Amino acid sequence: MLQTHTPRTLRVPAENTTLTITDITAEASRLDAFDNHERVWHGRDVERGLNAIVAIHNTALGPGLGGTRVWPHETFEAALTDVLRLSRGMTFKSAIAGMDFGGGKALIIANAKTDKTPALLEAYAEMLAALDGQYYTGEDVGFTVADADFLRARTPNVTGTTVGGSGNPSPVTAHGVFLGVKAALKHRGVDKLAGVHVAVQGLGSVGWTLCEKLHAEGARLTVTDIDAVRIRQAGEAFGAEGVGTDAILQVPAQVFAPCALGGVLSAETIPSLGAKIVAGAANNQLARHEDAKLLLQRGVLYAPDYVINAGGLLNVAAELAPGGYDRAATMAKVAQIPDTLTDIFQRAEAQNRSTNDVAAEIAYERIEAARK
Ligand code: NAD
Repeated sequence: MLQTHTPRTLRVPAENTTLTITDITAEASRLDAFDNHERVWHGRDVERGLNAIVAIHNTALGPGLGGTRVWPHETFEAALTDVLRLSRGMTFKSAIAGMDFGGGKALIIANAKTDKTPALLEAYAEMLAALDGQYYTGEDVGFTVADADFLRARTPNVTGTTVGGSGNPSPVTAHGVFLGVKAALKHRGVDKLAGVHVAVQGLGSVGWTLCEKLHAEGARLTVTDIDAVRIRQAGEAFGAEGVGTDAILQVPAQVFAPCALGGVLSAETIPSLGAKIVAGAANNQLARHEDAKLLLQRGVLYAPDYVINAGGLLNVAAELAPGGYDRAATMAKVAQIPDTLTDIFQRAEAQNRSTNDVAAEIAYERIEAARK
């Protein structure tokens, strides 16, 4: 378990606001997913429809950085669990990518298509401003570049914007995942993508771009999405075969690329997994950390999610570097993702440990060194 860093306080919110921000760290600490978070804040504005949680996991390396997810969780506890797990993942992602940022993540409990009004985003911008630099946000599921631009006009703690910023991180994430898929295949002795069968779950911003890249190098694709239109479009664009959302895990592909939501690899799904490599963009692919062992026992090579999907984070973090965003320098860092993965694969194999364990160990070492 990581040591906590400095206690965090709030800047006094503007007068006449209907927004309230509450420290819910103690409430969050009762959940299994808590893992010693530094601070968890709840922003509520009934009038403007905001119900948001900002979780700051660890800031030993720098301020918390991680996107805002907009998702209509059915219970507050489910939302809290989700954001805690995501925030923790960001700590590891930043650390292993060699960045001077900590782990943080936000979740707005809302339907991105129907509830994400300008008033809600105004209230959220006030919440970010009150956090006063302890947390920087950016895009995630349900939160777009346009949303980031809207917030950036109101508070500085926003990345992934178009105005002087890096824009949409998804293509960069997809590029890193693409390189990671190739590194995993290479580790298993496959040097070319031509003819390799890849099963892609989720045809959103990252999944679609990944498919484009895989298709361009001759991979054979089987795809799924909860949106049947996307499956049909992938059939037309890439000659991809479409399957149902439950069937994708069992497809006997060489690579399974989860690019939808988390928790897809579990004690229930791993025994019937069709692929021997898992390499995809989704955050928190493992339902529990222990499930990495089940993958190892089945001979499945797992590219730890927070290593392979770090491209987007590297891209948005570059906006905060002295001198501003530098595309070439960012892409050079993304190009190191396969080397980091190969190192993890080799160490895991030599020590007969899960790749997830090895990745966590590397991240822990860097965070602990910084803290000391
Ligand atoms: P997105 O919202 O654009 O796409 C997600 C897609 O998954 C959608 O098309 C959705 O319909 C589909 N989907 C949802 N549930 C599904 C299910 N059960 N089965 C099949 N498909 C389903 O999101 P994105 O930006 O492409 O991100 C995808 C994943 O990658 C997320 O887990 C995200 O946290 C992670 N990630 C994204 C980035 C980035 O830069 N966008 C960076 C790191 C990690």
